[in-house]
Amino acid sequence: MHMTAKASQKKEFSKTMLSTPLSQYSQTKKTLTPPLATLNMHSSSWISERLPEMLWAALIRHYHVGDDGYVIFRDIIRWLSENKSNTELVGVTHTDIKNYPDPLRKSFIAHIVEQAGSVALRPLLLLPDLPAYEDWKASINEVEQDENMDWSQLTKAISITLWHQSQEATDLRWVKLTGALLDGRVKFPQSMVGRVEEINSYPKSGDQREVRPSIRSLEIMENLQSPEYQWAAKFWEFVYKHTACMPEVDERDIAMFEAKYALVSDNKAYYMKITRRIRQKLVDHYFTTSVTSAIDARHEAVFGLALYSLDIFIENNIFLSASTPIGRVTARIMLESYLSMAYLIKKESEGEQLWEAFRNYGTGQVSLIERKYEDEGYQSSMVNLEVMDKIANEDKWSEFVPIYLGHWDTSDLRRMSIDVNEKALYDKYYPYTSGYVHATWGAVREASLQTCMNPLHRLHRIPSYGLTILPNINEDCREILNKMFSLVDQAYPGFNERMRKPVERKAKK
Ligand SMILES: [Zn+2]
Repeated sequence: MHMTAKASQKKEFSKTMLSTPLSQYSQTKKTLTPPLATLNMHSSSWISERLPEMLWAALIRHYHVGDDGYVIFRDIIRWLSENKSNTELVGVTHTDIKNYPDPLRKSFIAHIVEQAGSVALRPLLLLPDLPAYEDWKASINEVEQDENMDWSQLTKAISITLWHQSQEATDLRWVKLTGALLDGRVKFPQSMVGRVEEINSYPKSGDQREVRPSIRSLEIMENLQSPEYQWAAKFWEFVYKHTACMPEVDERDIAMFEAKYALVSDNKAYYMKITRRIRQKLVDHYFTTSVTSAIDARHEAVFGLALYSLDIFIENNIFLSASTPIGRVTARIMLESYLSMAYLIKKESEGEQLWEAFRNYGTGQVSLIERKYEDEGYQSSMVNLEVMDKIANEDKWSEFVPIYLGHWDTSDLRRMSIDVNEKALYDKYYPYTSGYVHATWGAVREASLQTCMNPLHRLHRIPSYGLTILPNINEDCREILNKMFSLVDQAYPGFNERMRKPVERKAKK
C-alpha cells in the first residue's frame, strides 16, 4: 500500500501550540501545574475520541476544498433539519447516524453521498466496522473502486484534521456542533447569543479569530463519553492493523546520515586543528606557572579541570559524538567543571580557600570506592583498584583522609551557579543534560524513539531505526570552554587561547 504524508506536518503542529509561561503555573509542594490543568475539565481527545466519529465530514473536507465543502456541509445540515420531522437527534457523528430510525438513516446517508459524491466517501467502505456500514455501502457507488487511492484519501483526510485547532479540524467540529444544535443539545450561555449567528454563517461572518475558538469550546461539550461511542477506538485499531508505520527519519538512509553528519565532520577538521594547539599551550602554561613539586591543590585543580573538559571536548570531535546522547553527558561534565572552577576562584577572591576541600573530598571518594571494593570483593572491568589505591594514598596515607559523604562544599551546583552569577547558564543546560545522565523519559524519547508520520497511527512513537543524530553540542561547549580558559587566565595570568567559532557551511536539507 502506498501512502504519503506531509513531512512539514509536525512543524505546523508545534507552531500553532501556545505555551504558558512558567510564572503562571501554580506550585503545590513539588508540583508545578499549568492553568488549564487546574480546571476540572474532562480532557476528551479530539484525535482519539471524536475525529473518527466525523470521518464522513473529514473525507468531504479533504475532497471538496474551500467553499465547495462549506456549501455541501450546509446543504447536508439543512436537509437534516428539514427532513428529521419529529425525530429527536443527538448529532451527526457516525454513531449518532447509526441510531437514526429507518428510513431517516438510509435517506440521510444517501443524501450525504449524493451531495459529496461516491469518490469522496468511498474510503468509508475500507472500514467494515463502520457504524451503519451496510447503509453507506448501499449508497456509495463502488464501480471504480481503487483501494490504494481510497487509503491515500483516508490518510490525507485524517492528516489535515488531526491537529484539533487546524482550519480543517475546526470545520469538522463546526459540522459536529451544528448537528448537535439541531435539537438544542448544546445550550448557549447567555453571553454567547450574539455568536449563534456567526456560527450559523461560519466561516463568513464575524472575526474568525474569535469564532473558531468558540466553535471549538462549544463542540467539546459534546465529548462523546457515553458508552455507545465505540467507533473511534475500533477505527484506530483497524487502521493501525492495516497500514504500515512511516518513520520520521530513517537513519539507515546513508545519504541522509552523511548529510546530517556533515556539520559534525566539518567541526572535527576545524577543532582538531585548534584544540591540538590549545591543549599544548595549556600544558606549557602549567609548567610556566608551576612553582613547587609539593602538593599544590589550587594549581592542579585549575589545570586539571580545564584539561578534563578540553579533553572530553576533543574526544567528542575525534569520535564524532557531538551529535549523540554521549555528547550531552559530556556537555554536563564541562558545565560542572566550569561551575566548580568558577566557584573555587570566586570563594578565593572572598578570602575562602576551598582548594583543599575540593581535593580532599575527591580523594575521600576514591578511598570510599576502594573500601567498598575491598570489603565486598567486587570485580570490575572499569575500576583499576591499583590506581584507586594510588590516588587515595597519594597526598597522605588514606587512613588520615576523612571521607565526606555530601558535596565537597556545603553548597550544591545550583547554589554555586547563583554564587558565581551563572544561574542562567545552569538553567540552560543542567535540566536538559540531567535527562541524559539519569535516563529520564525526555532523553529516552528524544534519543531512542521517533514519531511515526502515518497520520492513521495518531503520531505514535516507534523506535529510532538507527542511531539518532541529535543537534550538535559543540557550539554550547565551545562557549563553556572559553569561559574556563578565561578563568585559567584569571588564576594564572598569561593564558590567552580562546576557541573561535568555526565558519559553518550551509546545512544540507
Ligand atoms: Zn506507525
